[in-house]
Amino acid sequence: MSQGTLFVVSAPSGAGKTSLVRELVESLDGIQVSVSHTTRAKREGEVDGVNYHFTDVADFEAMIARGEFFEHAKVFDNYYGTSRKAVQTLLDVGQDVILEIDWQGARQVREQMPEAVSVFILPPSRSELERRLASRGTDEHAIIARRMRDAVSEMLHYDEYGYLVINDDFTTALEELKSLVISRRITLVSMREHHAPLLDALLSQAPSVE
Ligand code: GDP
Ligand code: ADP
Ligand code: 5GP
Repeated sequence: MSQGTLFVVSAPSGAGKTSLVRELVESLDGIQVSVSHTTRAKREGEVDGVNYHFTDVADFEAMIARGEFFEHAKVFDNYYGTSRKAVQTLLDVGQDVILEIDWQGARQVREQMPEAVSVFILPPSRSELERRLASRGTDEHAIIARRMRDAVSEMLHYDEYGYLVINDDFTTALEELKSLVISRRITLVSMREHHAPLLDALLSQAPSVE
């Protein structure tokens, strides 16, 4: 079975990556979001094992020591990381996988898997980013202020990514992400792997009419 494609999506907090990725996986088959581990506190409405695997610092550090993370980083004073086994298992059965991770993690992924497709999502303005962070209603004022301060240092890394999407109109941004996933499925290499019998049938010599 051919391997799925790994997609990496980064954005400053509040730019809309979680909403976009959720819609993307609902609207296309064959693609799944990797559920990260984190030591941050659970937000209201978040479910362990669905939004994140919520983990304490000791367990997270033990997983680092055992080499269980494909990538991990400290973001806003909390650990975040992607389980190597979970991602590899999905790619091995041909599923496309999306990682929603920060720029430090994206860098580690690119080093290990240069063929991964990376996308940076930007908000249409700083004021709209702040409005979205506040209107989401999940974070304390001090946490929002911290995330706004860190937004520029995250966004400074936009040019390390292969693709750039501006999440102004949600539907337009979603269409751009969908097009990207679909275009990776029709590369020559991918089509050859998936449609070998068709290519054989189309290209075999025609039987002689005599
Ligand atoms: P959100 O960005 O507002 O959704 O807030 P979160 O607390 O859910 O995530 C904060 C940051 O951690 C974001 O920049 C994510 O991209 C990043 N992040 C989430 N999961 C991972 C992960 O598994 N690895 C790394 N390196 N970063 C992650
Ligand atoms: P992130 O995962 O990047 O932190 P979220 O997906 O949680 O961001 O989005 C932050 C807030 O902005 C949410 O309340 C979401 O509904 C809203 N949002 C996302 N995209 C748009 C958009 N294009 N226009 C207006 N609001 C948006
Ligand atoms: P809430 O988190 O309260 O659902 O939404 C916060 C803000 O983001 C609201 O202004 C809401 O209109 C906007 N928003 C939430 N989801 C979407 C979406 O899918 N598309 C667009 N365009 N705006 C959204």
